Amino acid sequence: MSNIAVHRVDKPGVLPDESKLGFGKIFADHMFVMDYETGKGWHNPRIEPYAQFPLYPAAMVYHYGQAIFEGMKAFRTVDNRIVVFRPKDYLNRFNRSAEILCIPKIDVDLVHEGLNKLIEIDKHWVPGSLGTALYIRPFIIATDAYVGVKSSDTYKLFIITSPVGAYYAAGFNPVKIKVEDKYVRAVPGGIGEAKTPGNYAASLRAGVEAKKEGFDQVLWLDGIERRYIEEVGTMNIFFKIRGELITPALNGSILAGITRRTVLEIAKELGIPAVERRISIDEVFAAHAKGELEEVFGSGTAAVISPVGQLTWKGQTIVVNDNKTGEISQKLFEYVTGLQYGKIADKHGWVAEVTKL
Ligand SMILES: *Cc1c(COP(=O)(O)O)cnc(C)c1O
Repeated sequence: MSNIAVHRVDKPGVLPDESKLGFGKIFADHMFVMDYETGKGWHNPRIEPYAQFPLYPAAMVYHYGQAIFEGMKAFRTVDNRIVVFRPKDYLNRFNRSAEILCIPKIDVDLVHEGLNKLIEIDKHWVPGSLGTALYIRPFIIATDAYVGVKSSDTYKLFIITSPVGAYYAAGFNPVKIKVEDKYVRAVPGGIGEAKTPGNYAASLRAGVEAKKEGFDQVLWLDGIERRYIEEVGTMNIFFKIRGELITPALNGSILAGITRRTVLEIAKELGIPAVERRISIDEVFAAHAKGELEEVFGSGTAAVISPVGQLTWKGQTIVVNDNKTGEISQKLFEYVTGLQYGKIADKHGWVAEVTKL
C-alpha cells in the first residue's frame, strides 16, 4: 500500500436528479492528483477537493498538446456494490498512450489504488438508475513553463469524475454516419493509436461539416488510399456481414478500444463468428447491394453499443437493417451492461469491486 494523502471537502456535494445528468458537465467532490519531475519520478499522490488549479501561460500543454487521457466508468450494481469495468485494461492503455506521447509511464497499481480510494470517497456520486454511471477521466498534461518544443520535464496526472445520465434514455436511436472522404484523422506512423487531445483536434473540422450536413458522426477511412475503414469519432466499428462480425484490425492508426475487445471476447464466448481484419468501404457497400450487410454498430465506453442506421459515402446512402437496432447489437449491449450493473455474473474478471454501499 502506498501513501495517498487525503484532503476532503468541508461539505460534500449532492448528486443531482439522475434523470437530468446529461454528460460531462457535473463533477464529483474530489480528484486524484500526482506530480512528475525528471529525476524524482511520479510522486505526491493525493486526493483533493475538485477545484481550479494554476498553471503558467507558458505551460507546455497549452502550446504543443503533450497530453493523454482515458475514459472509463464506475457503476452502482443492482445489489448495491460500486464497481469499475476493466480498470486495469484502461490504465494499461493509458501507459501505451504515454509511450507514444513521450510521457513518463505510471505505476498502474498505484494509480488503480488512487482511483479506488477516490471512488470510495465519492461513492454517493455514483448514480444507480439503469444506463447511468460515474464517468472517470484520468489525464496527464505537460507542465514545464517553456515555449520551446521538447518533451516536458514536469507533468501532472489528474483523475476527475462526472456522474452521467443514461445514453439511451429514449431508447436506441440508430445514428446517421458520414463516411469521410476528404479529411483524415490519422496515418500509419502517426499518433492515431494514442488517446490524446491532438487526435480530437484533428477531427473537429470534419465533425462540424458532417453535423451541418445532417449527420451524427464521421466514419474515418485510412489516410493513404481513403478506402479502408478505421473507426468512428469516439468509437470502434463493427459490421455484420453474412452472420460474421468484422472489425478493422489494430493497425497503429486506430484506437484499441476496451469495448471493442470486450465485444470480440463476448462474441467468441457466445459462438458468434468475429474477425479482425482490413475491410474496405467498397466491400461494405457491395455487401449491402447483395443484401448481406446485416448490422453495423459502434463500440465505445460512453454508449457501449451504438447502432448505425445509415451510411453515406460520396453522396450515396445505404440504410442498414431498416434503420433498426440489430439482434446482435441488442444482445451485445444487454450482455455488457448486464455485467456492468451486476445482473450477469462476471466470469471474466472484468468487474472490479471498489466498495459496497
Ligand atoms: C476512446 C476511443 C474509442 C473507444 O474506446 P473504448 O475503450 O471502447 O472507450 C474509440 N476511438 C477513439 C478515437 C477513442 O478515443
